[in-house]
Amino acid sequence: MTPDQPSDALIIGGGPAGLAAAMALARACYSVVLFDSQEYRNDTAPMMHNVLCNDGREPWFFRSTAMKEMMDKYDSITFVDTQITAARQINHGQRNAFEVSNQKGATWRGQKLILASGTRDILPSIQGYKELWGRGIVHCLFCEGFEKKGGRFGFLDLNSRDDLSAVLMSFRLADDGVTIYTNGKGIPNDMEIQEVFKIAISRGAKIDDREIQSFSEIPDADGIQVHFQDGTQEDLKVLLHSPPSVNRAADLISSLNLETVASPEGHVISKGPVGETNIRGCFVAGDTSTEAKTVNVAMATGRCFSFVTSICKHHVPH
Ligand SMILES: Cc1cc2nc3c(=O)[nH]c(=O)nc-3n(C[C@H](O)[C@H](O)[C@H](O)COP(=O)(O)OP(=O)(O)OC[C@H]3O[C@@H](n4cnc5c(N)ncnc54)[C@H](O)[C@@H]3O)c2cc1C
Repeated sequence: MTPDQPSDALIIGGGPAGLAAAMALARACYSVVLFDSQEYRNDTAPMMHNVLCNDGREPWFFRSTAMKEMMDKYDSITFVDTQITAARQINHGQRNAFEVSNQKGATWRGQKLILASGTRDILPSIQGYKELWGRGIVHCLFCEGFEKKGGRFGFLDLNSRDDLSAVLMSFRLADDGVTIYTNGKGIPNDMEIQEVFKIAISRGAKIDDREIQSFSEIPDADGIQVHFQDGTQEDLKVLLHSPPSVNRAADLISSLNLETVASPEGHVISKGPVGETNIRGCFVAGDTSTEAKTVNVAMATGRCFSFVTSICKHHVPH
């Protein structure tokens, strides 16, 4: 397919959501172009967990196996490794369609647009944090907690009531207690977060207000060291932290005028399980479509049965 030929669907993002969407559409013999800039959210994690038949699988292996299976079987999918820098609605015949382009000016047109662009975490600039992200510093205990069982668990900041379930789960996994580090900021004024602290303290969590200078690996052991400004340090099995995040394609979401939820992370609002946004013919899947950001949900929202139904209603394939 040349860039000028319109395809049935354009998919932005080649993580689990975009790949699942491509497979579903290919199984209905629709032509699909999938664009991927290859910056996956779980890239730094050595393994992914809580995904049936793939518990402990390397994320890159999972994705490349999925791609290989599709390349071998479905010839209506075209994979293009590029970053899409612009997306707009166009009129194609009587219908609403979409045009996307990359930095080099190549353009592609499609009847439908699926945004499966994923999330980018905004990591704090504390020394050593970035290097340990996804290994000793994790955002989710279901993803990495069981493998870290034992020892002392730590939390860096508690930001919302949603953190309560992670705090409660940590007591099941840690056998040497739980510490919540406020990094010199103390317990926030927010009543909901104070409630989480109260419950954590009632279960025996220690609150540590010392300012953190850096993180490092424990030499020759599984765990991390927290180094404080006062020169002291503490060993942990794992540190939990949910840094703020933004959509990787926030610029496209904004230029398409897609409605997003009013939260800093701001995923795109879609109509129930259908996945269609406020723009007819534009769908979202995976982290872009929900606050439940996991591989299973990404695949389920990307499975795309609804996209297929929607395409069937509006478009007769050639
Ligand atoms: C450290 C870490 C570990 C995790 N471990 C687990 C785990 O063990 N189990 C689990 O269930 N979940 C885990 N998650 C969550 C999981 O990674 C995400 O929920 C999942 O990757 C979401 O899939 P997605 O397809 O929506 O996005 P992604 O996998 O992030 O893929 C999005 C893709 O879209 C591409 N893209 C974005 N914008 C553009 C553009 N403009 N043009 C072209 N391409 C674009 C990106 O480069 C990327 O390749 C983890 C998350 C983190 C941060």
